[in-house]
Order: sequence, then structure tokens, then C-alpha cells
Amino acid sequence: MIFNNRQQEIGDRIEEELKISKWKDWRWQLRHSVRTLEKFEQLTGISFDTNEKEDLRRTFDKFPLSITPYYLSLIDQDNFRNDPVFKQSFGGIEELTTLKSELADPLSEDSDSPVEGITHRYPDRVLFHVSNICSMYCRHCTRKRKVGDSDFVPSREQLRKGIEYIKNTPQVRDVLLSGGDPFMLPDEKIDWLLSEVSKIPHVEIIRIGTRMPVVLPYRITNELVSILKKYQPLWINTHFNHPNEITTSAKEALAKLADGGFPLGNQSVLLADVNDCPRIMKNLLHKLVQNRVRPYYLYQCDLSEGLSHFRTPIGKGIEIMESLVGHTSGFARPTYVIDAPGGGGKIPVMPNYILSWSANKVVLRNYEGVITTYEEPSKYEPKFCDRDCTNCNLDLKLNEVDESRAIGVEKLLSDNNDTISLIPEDNERIARREEDAG
Ligand SMILES: *Cc1c(COP(=O)(O)O)cnc(C)c1O
Repeated sequence: MIFNNRQQEIGDRIEEELKISKWKDWRWQLRHSVRTLEKFEQLTGISFDTNEKEDLRRTFDKFPLSITPYYLSLIDQDNFRNDPVFKQSFGGIEELTTLKSELADPLSEDSDSPVEGITHRYPDRVLFHVSNICSMYCRHCTRKRKVGDSDFVPSREQLRKGIEYIKNTPQVRDVLLSGGDPFMLPDEKIDWLLSEVSKIPHVEIIRIGTRMPVVLPYRITNELVSILKKYQPLWINTHFNHPNEITTSAKEALAKLADGGFPLGNQSVLLADVNDCPRIMKNLLHKLVQNRVRPYYLYQCDLSEGLSHFRTPIGKGIEIMESLVGHTSGFARPTYVIDAPGGGGKIPVMPNYILSWSANKVVLRNYEGVITTYEEPSKYEPKFCDRDCTNCNLDLKLNEVDESRAIGVEKLLSDNNDTISLIPEDNERIARREEDAG
């Protein structure tokens, strides 16, 4: 039974004696998304006083509102101010407070964009923004600057620019379709886009990032799954933040995708007063793995405009990781990451497990606080590696691998590169040397 009393109640307020078949039609859900305060009040039976309404209107003028009837139905009307779904979908005046360190585009996605729609940050993979709309506007969206900008579905011509860039950039082996939500595109366009991208010889895998299983699970139709199946290997990442979001409808959507053969991952964002609690987080992770979803990332909340009230200290994330490592299944544990402001990419963060070192021993601690030692091998000969794999006795089939060049800190460790330090461009000491020399 998917159509519960609350859903029937909300459905009937939209259309008299609404049939379940309509409620489960994703296009019907989109047509009836809640985009105004009045509609929110009318459908939920929740009401706000005049002052608060004024604040809310100002908020929605800057950051628009949009909630699917399905996601709306998950809000507990009797305790809505503490409800995690309410907090993620319905804003408040606190969104208009911006600190100096909070930016419209904290990850510099626009600066790392070689062509419209593409963010190329890492050597071998790109983010391809294929839609700029979502079925629900998350209040914690890191791309809040773009939400509601212009609700349009990009044309094939616009998407072609991104496809051309990928075609002309042979190092790209992994394409991550994101947005907005790629599943906002009609089936035919998804089919066309996936066929274009998967035709590119150097693209090994495609990933799709979508929040549909959470906010509009009816979008995962059998027709969609049969289209996606043509483009394996296809990885799908979704975005559950709280165990309350794992409903019967969400489970059905996840089961369709898992049965379709797609590896499923989940990216959560650590949000103050929503999921900044080890018990809530563990409960979420356990529900995810029960539904064949592998927790992938736990994100530290970005420094985006309007997100101050959602941010926690990094220490909260480390505390949560401490409560997971050893305490639960390894595959139920996400990697906690901070997306570096300025575009440095994701930086993984963990509690410290290495306590000390000597020439032949490492001292470690486990999750119970047991302190242990690992004795290093006495006979490990460091091998000189000049990256000429033809002369190496390790077995690597050379025709199957790419020629990778060491960059960054990896370069400092490599034998065939004589870089001994990485120095910031504006280092004053080095500038002085150059002046003295000059
Ligand atoms: C997160 C992200 C990716 C993918 O990173 P993975 O760690 O491989 O999941 C790629 N490009 C950009 C710009 C990203 O933010």
C-alpha cells in the first residue's frame, strides 16, 4: 500500500478523489509541485502568521520554492518545524544571511568550465550539467545560485557543446551527468544523450547523479530503466539525507534500479538539525545498504550563499566517522569529504588512526581505543621506478592501461621526477630570491 492517508488527503486537495494512478504519475506530480506559500498552506493545513509570511516571501523571491506533492506528504504536520523533510524543502529567513566567506559559487565550477555545461576539474573525468531543473529545490543546494534561474530543458544543440568537448578530450574516461537533475529530461532525450556519450570510444563509464528516488520516486519507471539498461556500465548515485526519506515508494524505485543492474551509490550532505547525529546517520546508512545502495560520500556542507544555518563544524563529521569505523559494516560507511572552496576538489577526512612511527614499527589505534603495533617488513627493497613498465617484473598488460603522468603530491613521491617541493605561486621568500638574483 503506497497511497497512505496523508497522501490521499493531499491528493484530494489537489483534485477531488484523486486516483492512485495519477499520484504515481511523475508528470502529474511535477504539474502540481508546490511553488507558492499559499499552495503550501492549502495542501498541508499548516499556516504561518503575517510576519513570518512576509519573511518567507522575501526568502522565496531570492531562492524559489518547489516541492513535489510526494515529498510534501512526508512532512509531519504536527511537528513540522523539527521535520527533516520540511527543513530540506521549505526555506526560512535564515537563508538570507550570508557570511563573508560564503559565496555564490564556492567550488568555482563556473571558472573550471571549458564549455557551457562542463566542469572539468579532475584529470580523467568531467561533470556534465545536462539539465538545470530539479523536481524539488533542496534548500541546501550547493548550486543555489542557479536554482530557478531559467527553468528550461537544454536543447540538443546546447548539449552537443558538452558532447563535443568530451569527444575532443581523450583523457576523459568517466562522465558524470548531473544538473539539476538529469532525470528531469524526457525519456527520448536521455536515450539520445546516453547514446551520444557512450559512443565516444574513450568514455569507459557514465554516471548519473539524481535525487529522483528521494523526492519523486515515481520517475523511476520501467520504461526509464529499460532505456538506461542499454548503456551499461552505468553507475547511479542518489542523495538521501535522512532515514525518513526511505519510504515504500523510494524502496520500490531503488529496487527497480538495482534489479536493472546498476551499481547504486548515495551522497549525503551533513546538515545541522537534520542529520548531524551519529544515530540518525547510522540508521540511514543501514537502510541504504538494505536497499542495495552503497553509501559513497558524506559531504561537509559547502560555503554557498544561504546555507549558514545548515553548516556544522568539521568536528561533527569526524565524530560521526568515529562512530562508524569498526562499529558497522565497512561497506555501510561513506567517505567523509570536504569540497575545497575555490575548486580544489574533494578532500577526504578521517579521525587519526596512526599514532606514531619508527623505522620498523607503526603504532595504531583501533575503534575500541586498543593501541597496537604493526611491524614493518625487514626485507622490502624500494624499487626504482622510472615509469618504464616494459622493464618491470610486475605483470601489467601495457595495451590495456593509459600512460599516466604523476601530478601533485604523487609527483613528490615518484622516482622519475626531480621535484622536491611544491611552492605556492605567491611565496614571498621565493619572490625575494628572484629579486636578489635580478
Ligand atoms: C565530485 C566531482 C567529480 C567526481 O568526483 P569523484 O570523487 O570521482 O566522485 C567530478 N567533477 C567534479 C567537478 C566534482 O565536483
